[in-house]
Amino acid sequence: MEPETLQKYIQAGKIAAEALEYGKSLIKPGAKVKDVLEKVEAKIAELGGKPAFPAQISLNEFAAHSCSDLNDVTVLDNQIVKLDVGVHIDGCIADTALTVDLSGKYEELVKASREALDNALKIVKPGVTLAEIGKVIHETITSYGFSPVKNLSGHGLGEYEIHTKPSVPNFDNGNKNVLTEGQVIAIEPFASTGSGMVQESSPATVFTLIKDSGVRDPITRTVLLELKKQKGLPFAKRWLEQKFGVNKTNFALKHLITAECLHPHPPLFDSARGMVSQAEHSVIVGEKSIVFTRS
Ligand code: MN
Ligand code: MN
Repeated sequence: MEPETLQKYIQAGKIAAEALEYGKSLIKPGAKVKDVLEKVEAKIAELGGKPAFPAQISLNEFAAHSCSDLNDVTVLDNQIVKLDVGVHIDGCIADTALTVDLSGKYEELVKASREALDNALKIVKPGVTLAEIGKVIHETITSYGFSPVKNLSGHGLGEYEIHTKPSVPNFDNGNKNVLTEGQVIAIEPFASTGSGMVQESSPATVFTLIKDSGVRDPITRTVLLELKKQKGLPFAKRWLEQKFGVNKTNFALKHLITAECLHPHPPLFDSARGMVSQAEHSVIVGEKSIVFTRS
């Protein structure tokens, strides 16, 4: 990897780690989810980064992709709170997440995903198979009596690409492909008290622009121009609502969805409504791997 590129990853990771820690400090009973997300995003900007995706808070059985729209009034109380933060510098992405248990009942669940992540990171180096990473995660989480979420996985991080190859499993999926020197990946174990399989909920409040043609009306085109600035990275409905208002945003999103310009990322929840925890770090694979989202 070019030294300049490496510096960008390190910088993105530093900002992501700081924004995540800051967000963690805001996760308290009585706090509004939307306020926490907005403050985390403001912190990313203040530190000189850009969001690689909207900051997200998923509660209880929701594992991922929950993101406040402008009207969200959800207040934190006694939930299991997952905060997921992504930062990029010129397309070099850092992706990191943690879980805070406000219920006081799921400390072990939080520990299970965190320890699974630590154990996986310990064996990351060139030549290790993806299945071996998954096996370590699976074994750690089941040793606590929970299930890893099998249909969510870690992933490669490309330039302006959040989810690229390889897919990094949370169980031994038999994949004999190996990690290679200089690969940038995110590892993200999820532990569940339920089925360990997530399914989609609705509506989505996070989207990725996948096509920028086929819409004609002026309002939708204005919104489309704004979306292109994200360079193929996901965006929040809330960002559009802040800029264009709720009505114009709904109008434009409807048209963009009909024209198949958007890929929606709906909230994902454990199919048996079990409680879910998550931990995530981004790492550059090497003989001495660099976990660049570790503060
Ligand atoms: Mn993440
Ligand atoms: Mn990720």
